[in-house]
Amino acid sequence: MTIPDSDYILEIKQLSKKYRQKTVVDNLSFKVKSGQTLGLLGPNGAGKTTTIRMLMGLTRPSSGSATIFGLDLKTQAKQIHSKIGVVFERPNLFENLSGYENLAVFCRLYDQPLSLIKPLLERMELWERAHEPVKVYSKGMRQRILILRALVHRPRLLFLDEPCSGLDPVSSRIIRDYLLELKKAGVTILLTSHDMEEVDELCDLIGFINNGKLIVLSDKNALKTKYGSYSIKVVYQTDNKLVEEVLAPTPENFLRLSDLYAKQQVVSIRSMEASLSDIFRKLSALN
Ligand code: ATP
Repeated sequence: MTIPDSDYILEIKQLSKKYRQKTVVDNLSFKVKSGQTLGLLGPNGAGKTTTIRMLMGLTRPSSGSATIFGLDLKTQAKQIHSKIGVVFERPNLFENLSGYENLAVFCRLYDQPLSLIKPLLERMELWERAHEPVKVYSKGMRQRILILRALVHRPRLLFLDEPCSGLDPVSSRIIRDYLLELKKAGVTILLTSHDMEEVDELCDLIGFINNGKLIVLSDKNALKTKYGSYSIKVVYQTDNKLVEEVLAPTPENFLRLSDLYAKQQVVSIRSMEASLSDIFRKLSALN
């Protein structure tokens, strides 16, 4: 079934960016449908952040075009800004203001009631510390404030550049759960990340960029079927120790497994789904 163009809230056509003579984003074209979560992956320096910066209107494309909510990036950037939320890796909070006050500034900016701040802070498990200055917050707490700040005007499209990079597991979990809630509520998300587990959990579409070029844009499960292969993890007993091996599903390995079974050496066996990390490695080798 083809999707009508009006269902795409982000559409990029042949977008490129050159710094001096170097092309860092090369003829990128893709569309994102309302409610989808797109994970933009790629090695360091692939051009992911530059792409988001162009979509935010922070860097001017060298060529190409983009529409967001049907609005033209070149001529209607202001209207676009009021409809999107963005979180960059580098935090830029008001350090001497409290978490509450940081959000209050943005509520006033976007003409939103201050009453929405408390539930937001509670949701991110920050209410207890809401009135302390941000300068005493941990990295994870700051990141949670940054995400809430991007959401006070209830955007339907969120750009997140490495939202959980370098955070402890507790902060990452709180943020990911909140992003899953937003996704359920129909918010469209474009995120970059080097954490394949995070991408697997949050994204339904995967775009892979290398050297500024889009190598693949695909439904996550289709990508796993196309580029991944499942493997078999087996633990078996030898004379004096337990051995753990991860085997590719080849005819030779199946013969080996039947042999181990016949000799009653198998302790446990389970099949493992193709991981996005393996697929990332495979795609990085393409060019
Ligand atoms: P990472 O995963 O490390 O964050 P990335 O995919 O986000 O990488 P970008 O930050 O978009 O990559 O950078 C793409 C390329 O553009 C890099 O080679 C980078 O050095 C270059 N680049 C980015 N900004 C500038 C700039 N202002 N001037 C010159 N080159 C730049």
